Amino acid sequence: MAALRRTLTFRHGVHPDEHKEATCRLPIQRMPFVDEYVLPLSQHIGRPAKPVVRPGQRVQRGELIAEPDGFVSSAVHSPVTGTVAAIEMRPHPTGRKMEAIVVRADPFASQRFVRRSDRPREDMEPDEIVAAIQRAGIVGLGGAAFPSHVKLKVPPGKRVRFAILNGCECEPYLTADHRTMAERPRAVLRGLELIMKVTGAERGYIGVEVNKPDAIARLREEIPDGMPITVVPLAVKYPQGAEKALIDAIFHKEVPTGKLPLDLEIVVQNVGTAAAIADLFATGQPLIERVVTVSGPGVRRPANLLVPIGTPVRAVLEHCGGLLPSTRQVVLGGPMMGHAQKDLDVPVVKGTSGVIALDRLAPVTDEQPCIRCGRCLEACPMFLNPSLLATLARAERVADLKEHHILDCYECASCSFVCPSHIPLVQLMRVGKALVRERGSN
Ligand code: SF4
Ligand code: SF4
Repeated sequence: MAALRRTLTFRHGVHPDEHKEATCRLPIQRMPFVDEYVLPLSQHIGRPAKPVVRPGQRVQRGELIAEPDGFVSSAVHSPVTGTVAAIEMRPHPTGRKMEAIVVRADPFASQRFVRRSDRPREDMEPDEIVAAIQRAGIVGLGGAAFPSHVKLKVPPGKRVRFAILNGCECEPYLTADHRTMAERPRAVLRGLELIMKVTGAERGYIGVEVNKPDAIARLREEIPDGMPITVVPLAVKYPQGAEKALIDAIFHKEVPTGKLPLDLEIVVQNVGTAAAIADLFATGQPLIERVVTVSGPGVRRPANLLVPIGTPVRAVLEHCGGLLPSTRQVVLGGPMMGHAQKDLDVPVVKGTSGVIALDRLAPVTDEQPCIRCGRCLEACPMFLNPSLLATLARAERVADLKEHHILDCYECASCSFVCPSHIPLVQLMRVGKALVRERGSN
């Protein structure tokens, strides 16, 4: 059974080179404060937060500066003690300009967080805990930045039996989650306990790829006696950390089209998110900093850094010795699903798991005709036909795109990665999905 467990995985997927050796053994270090922080009001899926401060106002580290606007929305806090310099449009990692609160740091501001007396307590009712997590601005730290409280609120008539923590970190280069599990296993486990309590889950699982044996060992050592938590080693494969792939790997169950993990009585959260929830209960600290992997062939001194949210990416790279002249592209997140940046003045936001400097650009000019090799079908973890969907997207055949389940695509880019004809399949999936969303109801 143990031997079988070690090789658990989902069906399909790809094996990009891991490139994790530069940072996987580097302990997390604190990034010093810089002069100015840019806090976009939209750092999560859902409605942007609403500012509750004015320019000129003094703010403390951890103070609320923007409150959630509705249920699918999340708060924003100042990462530093200082003064609100402006509320204005600033470049955002998505490539657009977005409204942001700019905080100028006090020159000698401390990174120590003062424990708050009004921190949430464990004996609160589940609804109060969910509200506290929303007020703390905690969102999924794996990259998607889905507000955590939304997933933890179990709707009437539904129940959760299993809570899974995603510790796969299957994107090349990234090691932030790996280091969090290896260095802070108790916080990860404490966060999982709280997630289980609030959702009513009977059992907890932590899925970790086998290329992180130290993280697996540390987590196993720290599981409290009698806690129904299992660390599940998983095969190394991309996109193992995608929710549906993770559920397939651990439970051999498929989340049906249009359904959510909740429909299988499962909730999934990232390991870094669990640690952030544990910190909230321990000290009252909202989400004001996150672990970021800085790596890639273009970075002089790769690192795992605890970065205050809002720090400009340029400052993070300078802290790591700057970029080598061979750098062609800087990507926020991993190279498979991350966003390439044209402006390094964008801030680190809650979903920024990595700052990766690459010495090559994704091939865009040498596209060849499809040779019907079927590799994209074998790669797709959602069992879609990317080749067919790409043709339908180009022809704008909206009804056919819908019928062939394009909305199940979660843009993992596995199909693009394997395509020998360099067809920009994931980009065409995005076009197809946008067409269905815009015109699908006609
Ligand atoms: S079609 Fe979508 S889900 Fe399937 S491999 Fe391509 S990007 Fe991933
Ligand atoms: S991998 Fe590329 S060439 Fe092969 S079938 Fe898919 S689209 Fe065509």
